[in-house]
Amino acid sequence: DGVTDRNLEDAIYAFGFGPRCSYVKPFGAGHINETYAVYMPSPEGEDVLAYVLQRVNSNVFKDPAGVMENIFGVTEYMRGVIRREGGDPDRETLSYIKTKSGLNYFEDSEGEPWRCYNFIPDSECYQLVENPEQLYEAGSSFGHFLKQLIEYPASGLKETIPDFHHTAKRYQAFQVAVDRDLKNRAHTCEPEIAFVKNRKEDCSVLVSQQEEGVLPLRVTHNDTKLNNILFDSKTGKGLCVIDLDTIMPGLAANDFGDSIRSGATTGAEDEKNLDLVHFDLELYEAYVRGYLEAAGEVLTPAEVESLPWGARLMTLECGMRFLTDYLQGDTYFKTAYPEHNLVRARTQFRLVEEMEQQFEKMQELARKYAGI
Ligand code: ATP
Ligand code: MG
Ligand code: MG
Repeated sequence: DGVTDRNLEDAIYAFGFGPRCSYVKPFGAGHINETYAVYMPSPEGEDVLAYVLQRVNSNVFKDPAGVMENIFGVTEYMRGVIRREGGDPDRETLSYIKTKSGLNYFEDSEGEPWRCYNFIPDSECYQLVENPEQLYEAGSSFGHFLKQLIEYPASGLKETIPDFHHTAKRYQAFQVAVDRDLKNRAHTCEPEIAFVKNRKEDCSVLVSQQEEGVLPLRVTHNDTKLNNILFDSKTGKGLCVIDLDTIMPGLAANDFGDSIRSGATTGAEDEKNLDLVHFDLELYEAYVRGYLEAAGEVLTPAEVESLPWGARLMTLECGMRFLTDYLQGDTYFKTAYPEHNLVRARTQFRLVEEMEQQFEKMQELARKYAGI
């Protein structure tokens, strides 16, 4: 499903760059979309990277119109908020560009969606957490993002991936995969299956609180990894939250939790040696501090209490999805070898176990930085 030169060129013309554009080349280290850097001539005569052009992965995003509607709604609103804060809307949020015919995105001859936004110069993107300071900044960025959008009507957003973090439904899908055992792999992962089954009740903890109205729906990002934040090269501070494809109504705890899952760990997601995989309470504390300094005042007490649960459940859910995919024959996540998804599930379950052991400390730290 490679991009043809013809479609790339059509996209460049659709956004009105056409003959003005100097050249285009592949860009970034994303796993989902095809990303290109668009270079334009500057008044000084050199070519500068001015725009990012992306072909959206239509296998993952079945409703590109809904995705783009969410992104335009949120980023245009965000520009107003940033202006009122005295910030620079051109650097602190992405500015999406409409096509020449005034549409949110361009559909190429194969029906694939393309969109375009400004490149943010003098910024840095980190693939791996190197120190607590980065996680503090990440917490601060995602906390600020939540606060900036606190009055944006979450219910008006399209749910572009239905039940994305409905952990109880994820459990049901897991159960079906175990029962069917399509690839006859269940006997190779009995301890992991038991690990999940022992936590069936946990899967409903946040979902029920949301359904009972104890936890409000917020505007959530849903891919809150470190590499979805741009850092300012000069100050080292978190600058701009990017990768807005999965903005949807959701729980603050889930965004918080996915950052902890992916960031407060000492090992890679697919580390085979579990001795190297630990939940790192110091990294957790750095994130909680940044997050609550930025968003503490707009979260309800129930939401503050839900944050450590978010970490546990996002990690359990993620491990459960890896295990489900392993049982189904690796149809969703890309794998490099047959046990890859099982290895990934094991790292997540290791983290869950350690979070369970340190849960009281996790709760104390959340309360401490929320001032409750
Ligand atoms: P993922 O695998 O995280 O879902 P993706 O395919 O959705 O990634 P993005 O995260 O949108 O792609 O972009 C890929 C990378 O390109 C980013 O991690 C970042 O390094 C770089 N990048 C994206 N947008 C910008 C920008 N406006 N300015 C500077 N760098 C950017
Ligand atoms: Mg990304
Ligand atoms: Mg993405």
